[in-house]
Amino acid sequence: MTTTATWDELLVGDEVAHLAAEPAREARTVPVPDSLQPTVREALARRGIEELYEHQADAYAAALTGGNVVVTTGTASGKTLSFNLPVLDALAADRHARALYLYPTKALAQDQARALGELGVAGIRAAIYDGDTPTERRRQIRGWANLVLTNPDMLHIGVLPRHDLWGDFLHNLRFVVVDEAHVYRGVFGSHVANVLRRLHRLARIYGAEPQFLLASATIANPAELAHALTGEEATVVENDAAPRAERAIALWNPPILDAGLGLRASALGEASRLLAGLVGRGLRTICFAKSRKSAELIHRFAAERLDAATAARLAPYRAGYTPQQRREIERRLVEGDLLGVTSTDALELGIDIGDLDCAISVGFPGTVASLRQQWGRAGRRGHGLAILIASEDALDQYFMREPAALLERRVEAAILDHANPRVLDGHVAAAAFEAPIDEGDVATLGPETLERAPHVPELRSTARGWVWAGKDAPAARVPLRSTSPDAFLVVDASSGDVLGLAEQERAYSTVHEGAVYLHLGRQYLVRELDLQARRALVEPFDGDWYTQAKKETETSIEEPLRVERRLGLELSFGRVAVTEQVVGYQKKAAADGSTLDTVPLDLPATTFDTEAVWFVPRPHQLEGLETMPLLLSSLHAAEHSLIALLPLWAMCDRWDIGGLSTNLHLDTGGPTVFVYDGHAGGVGIAARGFDQFEGWVADTAELLTGCPCERGCPSCVQSPKCGNLNEFLDKAGALTLLGRMLAT
Ligand SMILES: [Zn+2]
Ligand SMILES: [Zn+2]
Repeated sequence: MTTTATWDELLVGDEVAHLAAEPAREARTVPVPDSLQPTVREALARRGIEELYEHQADAYAAALTGGNVVVTTGTASGKTLSFNLPVLDALAADRHARALYLYPTKALAQDQARALGELGVAGIRAAIYDGDTPTERRRQIRGWANLVLTNPDMLHIGVLPRHDLWGDFLHNLRFVVVDEAHVYRGVFGSHVANVLRRLHRLARIYGAEPQFLLASATIANPAELAHALTGEEATVVENDAAPRAERAIALWNPPILDAGLGLRASALGEASRLLAGLVGRGLRTICFAKSRKSAELIHRFAAERLDAATAARLAPYRAGYTPQQRREIERRLVEGDLLGVTSTDALELGIDIGDLDCAISVGFPGTVASLRQQWGRAGRRGHGLAILIASEDALDQYFMREPAALLERRVEAAILDHANPRVLDGHVAAAAFEAPIDEGDVATLGPETLERAPHVPELRSTARGWVWAGKDAPAARVPLRSTSPDAFLVVDASSGDVLGLAEQERAYSTVHEGAVYLHLGRQYLVRELDLQARRALVEPFDGDWYTQAKKETETSIEEPLRVERRLGLELSFGRVAVTEQVVGYQKKAAADGSTLDTVPLDLPATTFDTEAVWFVPRPHQLEGLETMPLLLSSLHAAEHSLIALLPLWAMCDRWDIGGLSTNLHLDTGGPTVFVYDGHAGGVGIAARGFDQFEGWVADTAELLTGCPCERGCPSCVQSPKCGNLNEFLDKAGALTLLGRMLAT
């Protein structure tokens, strides 16, 4: 029995690109296993848990065999209990046993600590150990707690280098829990994979062999991710047996204003219209936007559409709120006092606000996993509505025309590369600091560590193995979110807060003087880029323009690693050097993308090594396109649209990928398209493109075929990050080339 779908009358018109219904699903449960420790059974019983979902029981059973486990089931499927059961069971049975829980953010660690406290299993002593833990508490936690919750940064800098203080804990370490494992991908994941290997090695040195229990959002490659992160095989548990609410799904495409130019109405306006319509019907709705400014505009426009009393039941929700303010909003939402909330992605990761009626995602949030997490909010009383409102971005528009790519196919893979020397070397140094590295460590640290050791300065080869000969602890010099230790600090000049890091190879194009810089959904204007101090000073910015850097790019092939005949041409994957020089930037109006100003910049060229996939089309594939500038324009348009769709295959951001197309490349001797990993050394993005080339090209051709524009638009061949400011793009030529490749 479901309530009347009072949203039906809103879901009409040309804007509805696709409607789907996901049926409700009954839970599949099994009795709580008898083998569980009595204290755990009692705690479950007190919480009214008499049965387990099948996947929870499967995960428990898999962990009992002593192996590693990765659980990848949907949002709100009780993943937490899947890894808590074996851990709590082991800790309850053996008072010496220890477990370490890893969370990507402090807030998530706090949520988990609270949940464990509420479960109240006798004998479980859980404690958070992070940067906020007072020094005087730290020693106490190390000695007292048998379940420690922390984050990768603390483990990397605070725990592993001081392992002597953790000797007892490491000696008894039975479980390492890695929750939200899909977050550990790309650069961050490549680092965390090394941190976990260092942890594993130290545990062995202290005589322990911990099991890794991972939990991830639904991705295409859970076993591969578990292996990449830990270096170990893991049993995959993916049979989701949790009940699911019946859910209506709507893909919503703002109306076309100018078909030839591919210009559409604003997604924010559509969002406010839907939000007001749903809230006006008394439906509790959350609306996710990509930036704080967007969230606030949606809130304001929606309020303007409603009467004062209903408008008062709308609120924006910000990451910058104090915990008290947030809890107040969460409470009002759960109690139904608030009807509509607009938020940035800050809410996305697991914070518990209960079920709502509707969830609106404004713009594809970058990964299907994130979108599913946002949509997972909708389903109160067994019935929910989930909406994706498309932005003009090519991937969004692709989904509007190919809904199956979003709703059915599972192509998104979480990828990382722990062996990227730019990432690995810092951890080799850190590992040597922690204990001399010898042959025996290959099993945990991997063979690459010994291969890199001779190349790491300040390491000495001794009879005991490779030892650290430097002065300070090297881990502190290795930031986990960058592939270069000399990244630029981005500092808010108004508060002195460090907002983040800009990797060396991207600093000049993202935080040059005058750039509008987006961080956690907030806009900042870069006041100064200090090349000596490696620091960008920024200030909060409320203007209605954005910036696009103009740059000159060159690539040179260092070493082809794989060359194959694919789609009728020679496809290569290998190492390249990319040289970029940012020569200026354009200020563009947020409203319509029109150019307001062009400003020259005088910045040095930067060169970095990375991985790329490249191809040289065969003459017959270019027939009729040989003249200039048509040749270049066709290759350039193909490059842009390929880059736009690669995140569908490799879980990453368009901004993680670079490209170059040329009518004549010196190394290949012919017209060439390069798509390269934007992170020095590469984190697996280009490699995934090589592996999935046929599907990737097919998707891209579909994107171009389906776009209703005449000559190319932001939804197909134009790129918001083109260093040539989207000059020389020929959509028809690109489609001809890709079509001939696929026809091979
Ligand atoms: Zn188009
Ligand atoms: Zn371009």
